[in-house]
Amino acid sequence: MSQVTVRQLAEVVNIPVDRLIEQLGEAGMDFSDPDETISNADKMKLLQFLRKSHGKGEEMSGPSKITLKRKSISELRVPSGAGRAKTVNVEVRKRRTYVKRSVIEEKESLDPEREEAIRKLKEAQDQREAEEVKARELEEERRRQEEERARQEAEEKARQEAEEEARREAEEKARQDAEETRLREMEEERQRKEQEAKAQREAEEQRKREAAEERTRQDKESRRGKRRDKGGKYGRQELHVAEGKRGLRRTKKGRPTFDVSGDKHGFSKPTAPVVREVEVPETITVQELAQAMAVKATDLIKELMRLGMMVTINQTIDQDTAILVVEEMGHKAKAIQEEDLESELVAEVQAEAEEDEEKLETRPPVVTVMGHVDHGKTSLLDHIRHTRVASGEAGGITQHIGAYHVKTEKGVVSFLDTPGHAAFTTMRARGAQATDIVILVVAADDGVMPQTVEAIQHARAAEVPIIVAVNKIDKAEANADRVMQELSKHEVIPEDWGGEEIFVKVSAITGEGIDELLESILLQAEVMDLRANPDARATGVVVESSLDKGRGPVATVLVQTGTLRKGDMLLAGQEYGRVRAMFNEAGEPIEEAGPSIPAQILGLSGTPMAGDNILVVADEKKAKEVAATRQTKERETRLAQQQAAKLEGLFNDMAADEQKQVNLLIRADVQGSAEALKDALTNLSNDEVKVNVIAASVGGITESDASLAQASNAILIGFNVRADAAARRIIQEAGLDLHYYSVIYDAIDDVKKAISGLLGTEIREEIVGLAEVRDVFRSSKFGAIAGCLVVEGVVKRRSPIRVLRDNVVIYEGELESLRRFKDDVEEVQAGTECGIGVKQYKDVKPGDQIECFDRFEVQRSLDD
Ligand code: GDP
Ligand code: MG
Repeated sequence: MSQVTVRQLAEVVNIPVDRLIEQLGEAGMDFSDPDETISNADKMKLLQFLRKSHGKGEEMSGPSKITLKRKSISELRVPSGAGRAKTVNVEVRKRRTYVKRSVIEEKESLDPEREEAIRKLKEAQDQREAEEVKARELEEERRRQEEERARQEAEEKARQEAEEEARREAEEKARQDAEETRLREMEEERQRKEQEAKAQREAEEQRKREAAEERTRQDKESRRGKRRDKGGKYGRQELHVAEGKRGLRRTKKGRPTFDVSGDKHGFSKPTAPVVREVEVPETITVQELAQAMAVKATDLIKELMRLGMMVTINQTIDQDTAILVVEEMGHKAKAIQEEDLESELVAEVQAEAEEDEEKLETRPPVVTVMGHVDHGKTSLLDHIRHTRVASGEAGGITQHIGAYHVKTEKGVVSFLDTPGHAAFTTMRARGAQATDIVILVVAADDGVMPQTVEAIQHARAAEVPIIVAVNKIDKAEANADRVMQELSKHEVIPEDWGGEEIFVKVSAITGEGIDELLESILLQAEVMDLRANPDARATGVVVESSLDKGRGPVATVLVQTGTLRKGDMLLAGQEYGRVRAMFNEAGEPIEEAGPSIPAQILGLSGTPMAGDNILVVADEKKAKEVAATRQTKERETRLAQQQAAKLEGLFNDMAADEQKQVNLLIRADVQGSAEALKDALTNLSNDEVKVNVIAASVGGITESDASLAQASNAILIGFNVRADAAARRIIQEAGLDLHYYSVIYDAIDDVKKAISGLLGTEIREEIVGLAEVRDVFRSSKFGAIAGCLVVEGVVKRRSPIRVLRDNVVIYEGELESLRRFKDDVEEVQAGTECGIGVKQYKDVKPGDQIECFDRFEVQRSLDD
């Protein structure tokens, strides 16, 4: 947990890795590798550096207020009786408080700050208007996400039900098995006992017989005067079951359960324990492990309990535990990695696919159509397929990856139509090289545009040949030469110009040049000599998937090698299942799909991801196991991410040693508000309390926001947005703090209050009176009594006091007595003389001062 890499830290604090490395450098630490671990000490160092570099550190380090006290004493000669003069000391005390200019300025700048916030608010509003269009899009996106969530929930539920069902079945089976085993064991035990008893009886008889024989022999031998070793002949300890006396017992069902026919030895105790090599996958149930070791599940459970694990027969245990217990029970464990099983499966299928060259047959090329938006990708496909997809698309934008195959006179071509190049690369990132050829569509009236360049980059990265379709050639303003020229700048050069790329001028509307384009594709394919074995078990790639209300998970897959058939057991990413039904792109049922042919399949356990590999597996158990391990891995990754979030909490706790923190997670309806809030709230930070905005973004409060807030102990702020049901559940369960606002000022006020709460209370003192000691009387009854003149304020009988000598506190305590003349009084006003007795302090001297003060507790607030 405490081992954190620079990258993780960057993720946690939500800044780019580069920036963090830079900051670390600025803080005097040398990090260059994002995967280097960063120690807590380094983190603290960075924190201090950042705090300092953010201004407050130095400036505020000095006191913001200095109070100077000045006392001047002058002498006055006052005539007294008998012509003598008396010298009286007159003390003038001045107190000046100097407040640091910056503090005053800060106070003054409070208003500009407010103006600034108002300005931001206004900006935000302006922006809001500007972003109305965007907001609508966002709304749509949100709705889509919600649908997706609902879909996932339904899916999850279905899966849980299925799991539950499977679990019940397994339990039932296990119960039956256990019962059978128990009966069998009882039976065996009984038989064994009988055998033993019989064997014992027989051995006894034998012994008697032999003893009798021996006796006769000994008699004979002794007669001959010879001696023989007694044990020699009878040393064998084996138990024998006499021939013909074997019991062949039957169970109720009439099956023989104890068959020893053909063997003389009915029972022989193994001389050494059998050591088995047990294969241990990454996860295994107790029952499966018991089976693998050929031990009773109860014994295994006992052993696990001995190791401190309470498990049930159906519980899954991890590899490490399994290995431990296997070895503890005297067997040899062999860890099998999921990759092993996976690569084993893949190798198996590949070997089959490439079994022999003879079986390889030419397969259709798989073509991906790419290019700038509106250049006519979908229209081109429509024309080729004689369909009208483009005109039916929402907003004319391709929403999904489509996969189609087209039969032309010269051969079959399969097309992938992607919503964007990112989708193409995402698929590639998952390891799926699905495309053989890229068709780059460039509108002749528009020329090379940003996404055209992007498409070239993606195709080059995938090392896939490009065929350029210069589209919209029917248009009057079409300029094919310009397209060629522009493309040549990006090293896409026509063959005519000595380059390598095939250029075809087409029109998706009139159909001009399309035959030529198809020919070019097939020619290119021929050059590439694309082959696959159609007889092998199928492998391929998931193009897309969705959850259908009625049909369950539906996946569009592209078969790459082999032939996928209805009824095949398929492993697809983290999902698996028997192919229940297959359809072509027109929605017509099909029985099989060969190499390069796309198909829609039903029957998977869930929706795999685009780009996931598919594989037909002979063994359902293996398919299930690999799918399960992949899921576990995915879960672990997610868990690791959550841990990163928790780490942030830890980091915050660390910082809290010095500075308290208010963590906030802000969600707003528009980016402008999110920014304005983030700035305004972060600026509330001071020396003691830091306002830390973990995240400020656009959109409703989601489950993951809630989890993040929980993990990092943050207050959730929804500005014109609300938390969804899933988020609300977590918020309620975890007791998180959630606030909705529609006015930035309310949010600021509340956060101010929260900060004030953290600031805590403060004890303040107020000097209420000052008395000067003129004389000290000793009284046997009261001890030392100071004769005083109250010079300032009031001296109160019950308030705490301090005794000052030369402005230095020499004693702090309370009064024993306060008197005017002979009377006890509660208080004495300025200008009045009084007698003061200080409790437990007898050392008062003339010239001392007695300061009387009040103490009270106040709640500190930011405005102080
Ligand atoms: P995509 O975004 O690349 O899939 O482009 P679309 O296929 O949706 O086409 C965008 C627009 O261009 C549509 O209005 C099409 O009717 C139009 N379009 C596509 N190809 C041609 C063409 O060859 N000639 C003309 N005139 N218009 C075309
Ligand atoms: Mg399109």
